[in-house]
Amino acid sequence: MLLAYRSRDAHPTGSVFLARADGEGWTVTFDGEASFGDLAAASPLVNKDEKTVFTTPVAPLYAGSDFRTGMALPFAVGQTWTLTGGPHGWGGGAPWSSVDLAGGDQVVRAARAGTAYTMCTGWIRVIHDRGYSTDYYHLWSSIAVNGAAVGQGAYLGYTGTDVTCGGSATGRHVHFGLRQNSAYVPIAGHGIGKWDFVSGAGEYQGGARHGSAFAGVGGAVYNYGALGFNQGVVDANGGGTLTRRSGPGTGYGVLGSLADGATVTVSCSANGTSHTGRYGTTALWDRLSDGSWVSDAYLSTGVNGPMNGWC
Ligand SMILES: [Zn+2]
Repeated sequence: MLLAYRSRDAHPTGSVFLARADGEGWTVTFDGEASFGDLAAASPLVNKDEKTVFTTPVAPLYAGSDFRTGMALPFAVGQTWTLTGGPHGWGGGAPWSSVDLAGGDQVVRAARAGTAYTMCTGWIRVIHDRGYSTDYYHLWSSIAVNGAAVGQGAYLGYTGTDVTCGGSATGRHVHFGLRQNSAYVPIAGHGIGKWDFVSGAGEYQGGARHGSAFAGVGGAVYNYGALGFNQGVVDANGGGTLTRRSGPGTGYGVLGSLADGATVTVSCSANGTSHTGRYGTTALWDRLSDGSWVSDAYLSTGVNGPMNGWC
């Protein structure tokens, strides 16, 4: 763990690692690397809960067009907090892995289940499945853990201004950062709490989008909880409603409509008529759990292509 300079935009650096000595010397592997799981499985120092997380195969990088995290926002589901800082760097500069949040009951909670580590006082890291981990910094009364299993929503600490590990904080908040495969990754585009974070022109700008609703800096973000890996949020691209049909195309009969921002569960997908939504043009249609069909152009799912297989 490396301390940071006591300036804004500076944050400490740290990794969970395993090291094994053999006749050739030391082998060191960091959390999120593929070799980390192999060493974790073999290590007598790693507990059963940690092994469950560490030995889950690492997901493809976000560059593989799969941005699904299965995470809620890092506070209680059902609360509304303020986005006090849009996407910005953990250590200053790219990648803009982090956002700042404050408000509600000020209790910071795990965004998804995993194993938790106290990197230093005020800084907790939770290592999740699929190669992801999340960082929580500036906490007051943070938990003291070293590989403890935590569930989604577990208490980690209170928002605060702690700078034990360096950096600075002018008002109490949690600096919430996203990592994958042992490195910080851009938080923009990732779905967390059914919001998609959006980068702005500069650090700390931007905001978050839920359906067509946009929350900029200073805006309110309601924690809807985690979006399932086979779910999407209706984004009608400007509001209004999304038409449900009896088949994969506009030639099929209308069965009803869905409100912007609604959560849907996808059973399977097929190609049909082509449509253009916020994120581009696609011929993909999704069959929902109620048997009706909607164009994938108007769903925010965090993944391109059939998210739950072809029909
Ligand atoms: Zn921050």
